[in-house]
Amino acid sequence: MSKVLIIGCGGVASVAIHKCCQNSDVFTEIMIASRTKSKCDKLKAKLEGKTKTIIHTASVDANNVDELIALINDFKPELVLNLALPYQDLTIMDACLATKVHYVDTANYEPEDTAKFEYKWQWAYKKKFEDAGIVGLLGSGFDPGVTSVFSAYAMKHEFDEINYIDILDCNGGDHGYPFATNFNPEINIREVSAKGSYWEDGKWVETEPMEIKREYNFKGVGMKDMYLLHHEELESLALNIKGIKRIRFFMTFGQSYLTHLKCLENVGMTSIEPIMYEGKEIVPLQFLKAVLPDPASLGPRTKGKTNIGCIFRGKKDGKDKTYYLYNICDHEECYKEVESQAVSYTTGVPAMIGAMMILTGKWTTPGVHNIEEFDPDPFMDALNKWGLPWEEDFNPVLVD
Ligand code: NDP
Repeated sequence: MSKVLIIGCGGVASVAIHKCCQNSDVFTEIMIASRTKSKCDKLKAKLEGKTKTIIHTASVDANNVDELIALINDFKPELVLNLALPYQDLTIMDACLATKVHYVDTANYEPEDTAKFEYKWQWAYKKKFEDAGIVGLLGSGFDPGVTSVFSAYAMKHEFDEINYIDILDCNGGDHGYPFATNFNPEINIREVSAKGSYWEDGKWVETEPMEIKREYNFKGVGMKDMYLLHHEELESLALNIKGIKRIRFFMTFGQSYLTHLKCLENVGMTSIEPIMYEGKEIVPLQFLKAVLPDPASLGPRTKGKTNIGCIFRGKKDGKDKTYYLYNICDHEECYKEVESQAVSYTTGVPAMIGAMMILTGKWTTPGVHNIEEFDPDPFMDALNKWGLPWEEDFNPVLVD
């Protein structure tokens, strides 16, 4: 019996909203609020009549704290699910603090003018959220999100200490375009064109973009090239997992994607430095986003599967142990169910589940928390129930 305000109505939000509407015993009433209200109205029209969840819509500029506070005071939700962009995290957290409403997101704050994401800005809210008696749940997508819950689950049930984690994110999907991104192009390109890094022996080791390449044979997908990237969950897992010596993150990319990206970089199209064009200031990367396919349009065209998970190495009862936890998700099955491809699906489902954990009283500790800080068991059960079943392998091939 809960009211939830969902901010954003893009690829990820659309899946999360479908899932909330399938789970109407928990999500009895939702407000979809985004910059472009017509998108919210379109989704409402599609879902109404097929769900018991009562749906409202509104337009909001989530960069504006006062507008957010007014909307929250009017609708009176118990929780705000932030599925806009990482730039809006702090303003939405400010509005939640002012109104004493729980907060959930899927990506950590990133200032618009520097492509650098880290938790320090959001972790600075810990005491304020504690004092207000509200929960701030950070990173409830797939990675971060499910990969972090997998780590907490492995720590709780399979290991006494975990020494090595390799997070492997494989998208074996084919959308038929020479170049397109599976989620917001601006955020995606900022992430993959940045320097790589991993955590080893208590410090960060930095690499050039795409410098470290490995091959891996993914169940359900096959052999793929994957590249080491910096990724936000490395920062919190390095603090929260006992005995950790090294954490790395690898993502698969096809040759066509990399060739296009290199070319776009070489000509300056991925730059976030504003330039003057015909008397108007534009940011090249934002212009590029405008000409690339909308990720939401990839759904009906994408075939194949994703396979995302974590390989753990550590000790149990004094013996060395290896354990792989992963989920395989089929793009076409996702489209059949919620009219989205698997990258949005694998993020939108855990976003709904994270909100459900708070609303149903499973996760209640006030303060700002990364998702691996909570009991993973109810979340793991919910993954199996709500469309992202996980598989285990006790003898996986390791990444060198
Ligand atoms: P989209 O670009 O498809 O959607 C973003 C939505 O936010 C749009 O509806 C957009 O409105 C809205 N929005 C943007 N700015 C504002 C604003 N100032 N005020 C109100 N609404 C705004 O992005 P995705 O759905 O692909 O991604 C959503 C989030 O999910 C991102 O933060 C992304 O980083 C994260 N993500 C996390 C993953 C994980 O595994 N943890 C994986 C993939 C994504 P409009 O329609 O007007 O543009």
